[in-house]
Amino acid sequence: MLYFVATPIGNLKEITYRAVEVLGAVDCIYAENPRHSLVLLNEYGIKKPVFEHQKFSEREKTAEIIEKLKSGLTIAVVSDAGTPLISDPGSVLVAELIKNELPYTLVNGPCAAVAAVVLSGINAGAFCMAGFLPEKKGEREAFIARFLKLEATLVFYAAVHDVIKDLAFLHKRLGARKAAVVREISKKFESVTRFTLGEAPEFPLRGEIVLVIEGYKPQDSAQERPSVAEALRTLIDAGADKKEAVKLVAAEYGMKKSEVYLESVVISTKNEKRKTKNEG
Ligand code: SAM
Repeated sequence: MLYFVATPIGNLKEITYRAVEVLGAVDCIYAENPRHSLVLLNEYGIKKPVFEHQKFSEREKTAEIIEKLKSGLTIAVVSDAGTPLISDPGSVLVAELIKNELPYTLVNGPCAAVAAVVLSGINAGAFCMAGFLPEKKGEREAFIARFLKLEATLVFYAAVHDVIKDLAFLHKRLGARKAAVVREISKKFESVTRFTLGEAPEFPLRGEIVLVIEGYKPQDSAQERPSVAEALRTLIDAGADKKEAVKLVAAEYGMKKSEVYLESVVISTKNEKRKTKNEG
């Protein structure tokens, strides 16, 4: 039998009786980072062989785990914190367990996404756990495009050094929605900062962070921002000169003037073509 075991995301006491029992009863434990997990295991007096099971060696460790299970051993798999598989390794293993018809279960417990939704005060009725935003610009754009019109609350994990950049990006793409920065859940300095995307929230740039963002609201026209091209065309049609329009739109959309300028060139080219066609 294989047990995925959820472990604390901060406070070491936030672990279930069953999790402690299972960790103490299995033949061995696979951990994302054995040294990290030893702190928890020592806290509960659990002495078991601990092996590594992390993202970069997931395939080869999966094969090893499957072999052990077939030989009749019982195994627990933990990540550094929270629920395995949730922005953590384990999905390769699950696919192989199902393929090999080997039984597995989850010993349920902490998950930062669920805790953050509850703490945020934003609609917890339906939410979507989006995970980390990709680093690369193109991938980010394709990633967020899938969530733009989702009416469920959005949950993003964020590394502290990326959080300001992530918030600016989310404002640019999602508009002025309700948001919360939920930090250090279950730890001494747990905090929740509620604000509207586009504002500059004040919170310590330290610790672990989850971003919770209100879902799309179809009726809320305030959220329905025109595209950059539409905004430019409206200003130019209203008599603004191109330079001024570019400056205003760049400020409004949090974009570089050079990026907005490119859109204005497209508009001018289209206008030119339309004029030539009408004249011809
Ligand atoms: N498997 C974990 C879970 O169930 O939540 C998530 C692992 S993911 C690699 C780590 C991210 O989870 C962090 O970057 C942060 O966004 C979030 N996180 C984990 N612990 C947290 C905490 N105590 N407070 C706030 N966010 C936390």
